[in-house]
Formats: sequence, structure tokens, C-alpha cells
Amino acid sequence: MPSSTLKIENARFVVTVDQQRRIIQDGSILIDGQHIMDVGKAADLVEVRANRVIDARHLVVTPGFFNGHMHISYAHAVRGIFPDDVENRLAHVFNLQAAMSEEEEYYTSLLAIVELLKNGTVCFVDPGSTKFPDACLQAYEDSGVRIILGECVTDRAFPWNLPRYPTEEALSRTKSFIGKYDHRLGDRLRAWAMPFSAESCSAGLLRGLKKLADEHGTGLTLHHNSGPKPREQYLAEHGLPPTEYLEAIGALGPNVLLAHALGLDDAEIDCLARTETSVAMCPSTAAKEGRGVREHGRMPELLAKGVKVALGSDSANSSNHLDLVRSMNLAAIQYKDARQDTGLIPAETALELATLLGAQAFGLGDQLGSIEAGKKADLVLFDTNRPEWQALFNPINNLVYSADGRSVHTVIVDGRVVVDAYRQSFVHEARLFQKVQEIGERLQARTGITFPRGRWPMV
Ligand SMILES: [Zn+2]
Repeated sequence: MPSSTLKIENARFVVTVDQQRRIIQDGSILIDGQHIMDVGKAADLVEVRANRVIDARHLVVTPGFFNGHMHISYAHAVRGIFPDDVENRLAHVFNLQAAMSEEEEYYTSLLAIVELLKNGTVCFVDPGSTKFPDACLQAYEDSGVRIILGECVTDRAFPWNLPRYPTEEALSRTKSFIGKYDHRLGDRLRAWAMPFSAESCSAGLLRGLKKLADEHGTGLTLHHNSGPKPREQYLAEHGLPPTEYLEAIGALGPNVLLAHALGLDDAEIDCLARTETSVAMCPSTAAKEGRGVREHGRMPELLAKGVKVALGSDSANSSNHLDLVRSMNLAAIQYKDARQDTGLIPAETALELATLLGAQAFGLGDQLGSIEAGKKADLVLFDTNRPEWQALFNPINNLVYSADGRSVHTVIVDGRVVVDAYRQSFVHEARLFQKVQEIGERLQARTGITFPRGRWPMV
């Protein structure tokens, strides 16, 4: 028997998201090292032994979740400080971000990772927030999470406090970042090109970064929205709507992930489908910011055209939670309501967004995103011994419409149990919470970015 086998035995349901989308009742999964060796009916695997066996009679197993847009770093330290209707939110965001020290970023990243893993996220894209990756490497290593990192670059004047460099320097910084970090930590760490947005970067920079990503076999992500106002501005400046502009300059393709992607028109959706560009949509941020899903949300049309759509939670000060079960829920219900059509984004589709489609959008669909022999063992085990999971007949409906991340019981990444019966063992949580609270107090005092603590008197 190999030294690192793990068996998940007698699971109430295994939601495989495999090609047939099988849901196995009373299923077992055998993991050897990083990989899934076998998955099937418990009765067929009853003879198989392992070094560790998890009795999963009360558990529902799904693939691990992929979070396509999650700014780590500053946000956890000042979570919830912005009033709902705060003005110039993003100006404050980037001033707070710029003020983070190396030590502060390590602790806030650690807290974010604890929250991500305990809510079932096994892999996330940090769109260039991390300023001190070396300081945070230990957190990535200890926690066992998968992370896609990059250095945020821009080369044009922009209203917010973003890192700006001459074009050539932005390119060379990205090249050395990818060279230094891609495929580290047993391939759990990936490094991508991360221009902030097309508005803050020249065509030359975007084109150069896409070329770098192609040459290094890696990805590129940037913030991207359309809608009537940006379309007008792009037409005036470039003679093309935003998404067609990106295509025209050679910045789209199968290794590109556009964040938010609101306000696309039909021609722009065709453009993404044609170039096999993926998107990461953040339903909770869009809703909280009043972005108008009825007018600007095009998720059903993107999916109908075969565009790979991932879900993003965005930061702890955007949505303000990192729970992809809540994001799945919102994705599943907001289009039904906005368009008065209950056929839109069924619960099964919502689960695909967070799992297989997410993995495909990250370029990792051949290795991750479903529970199949040969794939890497990234799994979430949900505890059904909870009121919100009862009664249980349809596990996907219960997951998407009734549960949330609090019923995540156990999480496995790369074959390693990183959350074990609700507990992680890589950090002392009470001390970490205290530390991040203090960082938040210091950060507000240092930047002067403070707000009344709510609309009601705090006595
Ligand atoms: Zn963002």
C-alpha cells in the first residue's frame, strides 16, 4: 500500500461534475498522493484500504471551488468600514492598499486564506493585489491553498493610486515575476500577467503582456466592463467598443480571464466566444454596488455561447464575503428575478461555475474541477448534519439554495486535508484575528481613511 492514501468512504452523495454529471449515492473516493485514483459506488470499493479513511456517511462531496477574482491583502484589515453609499470607494481602496506593509500583508493574506479554505475555495486568482509575495509565500505554503498571483501594472495616468511604470519596465517586471513564481509550491502557485484594466494600460503594454503570457504558457487577467457609457468613450478614443478593442489589439484569447464583464452587448459576447476568452463574474459585488444585473448582467448569454464563466467573490471589502456558496446562490437567483424567468441559471449550472467551468477558465480544467480518476484531489465535504441541509433529496438544490459555506466540514487540496472537521491547523485563529484587528486600526490611523462606524450611535 502506498504511504499517502486517503479514502472517503460511504459518502451520502458524491457530486462528481464528471462528463455524465453523475451524482453517486453512497459513494467512495480513493486518493493516492495528489491524485484521485478511483471514484464509484462504496460497494465496489469496499475492499480498497487506505492509510486514512474518512467516514462520509453524513457528508456530501463536491469538487473544490475556484474563485476567479479575489483581491487579497488590505481588505480584511478594514472589512466593513465603508458605508453602503460611500463616494470614491476605489480611490480609498487603492490608497489603503498602497499603505500596506510587508508584515501586515502577510497576516491579512493568512486571514483571507483561512476564510477561503473554510468556505471551500481551493484555488483563487488574486488580481495583482499582493505587493510582497515573498512575505506571503509562507502563508501559501503552510495553508496548502492554490493561488494565481501576479504583479498589478499600468502605464497610463489613472485617477486611482495604482502602480504605474514606463511600458518597458511594466513588461520586464511582469516577465521576472512570472519567471520567479510560476509553478512553485509543487505547482500550486501560478503567476500570470496582471494589467489592471484596458483604461489604465496602453495598447502596447496589453499586447506585450499577452505575448509574454503566451510565451510562458501562462495566463492574463484584467478588469473589464462595457455598457453604454464605456462603449461611447471607447468608440470616441479607439473607434471600437471595449471588448472588440481588446480583440483588435491582440489582448484576448484562451489564456485571458476578464473580471466582472458587465454590460457586454451581443457583438462583444461573440467576440469572447470567438477568441475563447474566459470571464470571472462577481455577482455579490455587482449586486452590492448596484450595478444592475437586469440591464448589464449577461451570464446566460455568455454561457449559451460557450464562454467559460468563473465566479469571483471579490474582496472582503467589495462583496464583502469570500463564500462561493453564497455567490452560487446569487448567480442562480438574480437572473431568475431580474428577467422573471425561472429557467435561467439552474442550481446545477451555478455549481459548474464554481467548479469545472472555473477550473477551465483558469486553464486548469484538464487537471482539476471535477471528481474523476486521474484528476488532482481537490474536494469539499459538506456536513449534512445541520438543519439547513434537511430534508435531503436533491444535494445540489440544498447546496445552492439552502446551505452556505458554514457547512463546509472538510477540504482537501492536492490530496492533503487542509480543513479537517471544521478545523485548520496552520495558524492559531484567535491570535490571527487580534493581529488583523490591530493592523486595521493602525492602517486607518496612518492613512486617515476612516468613516463613521455605522448609521447608528455607537455608545
Ligand atoms: Zn478587482
